[in-house]
Amino acid sequence: MCGIVGYVGSREALPILLDSLERVTYRGYDSFGVAVLNGKGIELFKQVGSVDGHRGEFDFKGNAGIGHTRWATVGGVSQQNAHPHTDCEGNIAIVHNGDIENYRDLRDRLLAEGHELKSETDSELIAHLVENHLNGSLVEAVHNASQEIEGSYATAVLDYNTKELVITRNESPVVIGIGDGEIFIASDAPAILPYTDRVLYPEDRDIVLAGANGDLKVYRNGVEQPLQIRKLSWTSGQTEKNGYEHFMLKEIHEQPTALRDTLASYPDGLPGLPVESPERLLLLACGTSYHAALYAELLITSSSNVSARAHVASEYAARTRGTSEGLVVAISQSGETADTLAPIRALKAAGHSIVGVTNVQESSLDRLADTVFQTKAGPEVAVASTKTFTTQMALMALLAAELTDDAQVASDIRSGLRSLPGKVEQLIARSDEIQKVAEWLAGFEHAFIVAKGAHVPVALEAALKLKEVAYMHA
Ligand code: GLU
Repeated sequence: MCGIVGYVGSREALPILLDSLERVTYRGYDSFGVAVLNGKGIELFKQVGSVDGHRGEFDFKGNAGIGHTRWATVGGVSQQNAHPHTDCEGNIAIVHNGDIENYRDLRDRLLAEGHELKSETDSELIAHLVENHLNGSLVEAVHNASQEIEGSYATAVLDYNTKELVITRNESPVVIGIGDGEIFIASDAPAILPYTDRVLYPEDRDIVLAGANGDLKVYRNGVEQPLQIRKLSWTSGQTEKNGYEHFMLKEIHEQPTALRDTLASYPDGLPGLPVESPERLLLLACGTSYHAALYAELLITSSSNVSARAHVASEYAARTRGTSEGLVVAISQSGETADTLAPIRALKAAGHSIVGVTNVQESSLDRLADTVFQTKAGPEVAVASTKTFTTQMALMALLAAELTDDAQVASDIRSGLRSLPGKVEQLIARSDEIQKVAEWLAGFEHAFIVAKGAHVPVALEAALKLKEVAYMHA
């Protein structure tokens, strides 16, 4: 996963790009880069490490630019492989989130054509493909280049000659924010929330032209589309640290509110499922959301006659024929987890009903699912999921209450949930004690987290946290 950002308008682009990049850092942070368009050409800075570590090392003036924070998939972590990438002449700069599956063929062909490739990435090929097609219209060039690409991409292309910024996507997320005479681009809404709450979500293979005066055009199959502008329900204050040292700490402390807001949205339990009394339930998710799915599997299987199965979404296709799955539940905080969306799209195409559990309104999962249950955790900015996990588990418990035909079990689950936010508050109030445990734990190289039954997913999640946040073997 990587994060892309972009800006075009009348303000200085660089501070906005850097600020937005910081807000998509959770999507990847092994290297980063920015490119800014000005009278002289495209100025570029890229480096290994995160944005935060290199602020102040460069200063570009210009009102249009793109940025990227990388989590390498094709080509190692190096300055050369960091985005943005440029064409042979340095007139076109691109950032890309996704994976180009036919990149070996494209690479061989572009090299044979005499293109000078400077990195090992699949992403750089986009700049050279656009260069091949550019003959006046950047929109057309990006459209024609994208026809040659197999795989996933959300890409922003900046061109010095046309002075235009063009965005396109396929299976990777991108949101376009509309300001007053300015346009913001990001992988995720929280990145642009401080600037605007009016957004547009391009469909797969749409081509979006962001003009210098804030003009926005969306083309689908070469035809201009009416703009479908939506208003985000989140506020920019929700993406500030509000006095906390870092976002993860803030988001840990937001758990009681996140739980209250989520449970308050379903005062009478979860509304109707798309399949009445399903016999089987398939839960698909990745990472933290998979642990919430495992919790649901345990709770539902032990409290009802429904046979529930949780699968790591990216492994699902390889392990099943997927012909009779009953009801399918997909869980994804962002609603954009590509590994979860892929099997969900296939199952939907095969006629299955999909329940989506997501934190982001208007996300791909939100739009794809037949029924959506929303966690009301607010924007999650930290790399590691916290408040989303607890709210996902609360929704899974509500789902179990819905599926059981034992009224006592359902009532126990519901009353347990009512007292949960208060209990979480009490636990968080013991932060000093928790900190002491953390300091003691920091002295070890390995941790084995042991649990039974419904606690197993929590143990797995705790181990994941130690791995991803503390780089500890767990
Ligand atoms: N494939 C690109 C790279 O490795 C983008 C990676 C991603 O979006 O995860 O640079």
